[in-house]
Parts: sequence; C-alpha cells; structure tokens
Amino acid sequence: MASSVATKFLTDRVALVTASTKGIGFAIAKQLGAAGASVVVCSRKEKNVDEAVAALRLENIDAHGTTAHVGDKNDRTKIINFTLDRFSKLDILVSNAAVNPHYGDMMSVSDSQWDKMLDLNVKSAFELTKEAVPHLEASGRGNVVFVSSVAGYSPMNDIGAYSVMKTTLTGMSKSLALNLARRNIRVNTIAPGIIRTDFSQALFSDETEKQKWLSQIAQRRFGDPDECADAVTFLVSDEASYISGETIGINGGMQARI
Ligand code: NAP
Repeated sequence: MASSVATKFLTDRVALVTASTKGIGFAIAKQLGAAGASVVVCSRKEKNVDEAVAALRLENIDAHGTTAHVGDKNDRTKIINFTLDRFSKLDILVSNAAVNPHYGDMMSVSDSQWDKMLDLNVKSAFELTKEAVPHLEASGRGNVVFVSSVAGYSPMNDIGAYSVMKTTLTGMSKSLALNLARRNIRVNTIAPGIIRTDFSQALFSDETEKQKWLSQIAQRRFGDPDECADAVTFLVSDEASYISGETIGINGGMQARI
C-alpha cells in the first residue's frame, strides 16, 4: 500500500507516531501521511527527527517532528502538546517504541533490564495513551495502535523478557479496547514477525542465524516495514470501523502452525 495509496482516505486526520524516525515507525508515518493524514514524528535524537521530517516533506506529507524519549513523562506530555499546538487535535496514536536490552538465558535478566523494558515497552505506552485519550475522544473517531511482536504470541529463545512485554502489550490493547469503546476510540495492535530494520539486524546479519530464522517463516523471507504500515493504515481507516481489540500478525506465516 505504501507507494500505491491511491485515495487520500485519511485527510483531516492527525496522527502521532512514536519512535518514528526510522524502521517500522517511519514507514507507518510515511504511509499515514501518503493517505492524507498530517503526521507528527518523534524520537530521541534531533538529527534523526530533522531527517525524517525532511524525508516525509519530500513526499509532500504534512509532517512535523520533535525530540522525545517516550520513557520520560515530560517528553510524553511534550509530544501531545506539540501535536495540539500544530494541529489543535489528535485522531490517531501509534505507540511503537520498544527496547530490548537483554539477550540470552532469561534467568540472567537483571532488575534494571527488566524495569527498563517494563517502563518503556509497556508503562510508557499506557501512560501516553492515557494522556492522549481526551483528545482522541474529542476526535469522535479516535484510534490507538500498539506495536507488539510475534514474540508476544510465542516467546522466542534468548529474548524471553522482551517477549513477556510484548504479550502484555496485546493484553493491554484488549483491556483498553473494552474500556475506550464508549468514547468512540478503537484500540488495536500489530504483531510484526521479523522485519528488516536496525532493531532486528542481529537476526539476519550472520548467514547461519539468517537461515535458522528463515526456516521458521512459511514465506521464506523477512518482512518489510511498509508491510507493517499497510496493516496500521487499514486499522485506523474507516474500513476497519468495527474492528477493536484485535491483533494482526504480520509475519509471513510464522504463526500458521500454532
Ligand atoms: P528501529 O528500526 O531500530 O527504529 C527504532 C526507532 O525508535 C528509531 O526511530 C529510534 O530513534 C526510536 N527510539 C528508540 N528508542 C526510543 C525512545 N526511548 N523514545 C523515542 N524513540 C525511540 O526499530 P524497529 O524495528 O522499527 O522497531 C519498532 C517497533 O517494532 C518496536 O516496538 C519493536 O519491538 C517492534 N518490532 C520489531 C520487529 C523487527 O523485526 N524489526 C519485530 C517485531 C516487533 P532514536 O534513536 O532517534 O531515538
């Protein structure tokens, strides 16, 4: 859908996408923008924000951006206010940020690593949603999308704790969908498989590792960030008006046998 969004079906919508200066978040911002939405991008590094905004504007997307560490409460408030200052409203929140500071035996996860993951991957997603809710409600057609992972369904070796965080995110999405329906806010989740980004590089930079993972994917290829953006663009569109509390897997058939 990325390069072929034929109609501007998201015109008049304002979307805030976290962790969106590269990878999956950037692809989501680009595709929502291509569908007519005005987009706010953010991440920690100013240079990344500036480059992302410039790249989006080159595609004639109404894009603005600011720095923000989503684990920081003040920064979460800052990105909501930044969006409202520019556009006076917010229709779509895509909560995409996550960290994975630990690989290996789950018993070796330190307290600080666990806390960091819980804080950034789960708590900040909830807190940001909470802060966005009054504005999404005012929109009358508010949408929240969380970015979970295939690991949230079936935990992956060596990333056990991260997998738990992603499972929690899908559970949280369902609870929020129940809670926010009365405010006309839909809440859904995407669960990407292995998508080619810097985040997942370790899984395909080594040939043996790459073949090991490919053998678990029915389509025998890794995904593209645009394929995640396709799902998000659908979920926030009016075509998905009766879909809430769902998680769409984007994994080339990795889950087909489960
Ligand atoms: P990525 O390509 O490494 O991009 C990460 C983005 O997040 C960058 O724009 C980075 O910019 C920003 N960022 C990092 N920490 C941040 C923070 N604390 N606050 C705000 N922004 C932050 O990662 P990705 O692969 O697109 O991953 C995006 C999401 O998809 C994550 O939730 C990840 O768990 C999920 N996911 C990815 C895969 C995969 O295979 N790639 C699979 C399943 C799920 P700065 O450095 O400027 O902050």
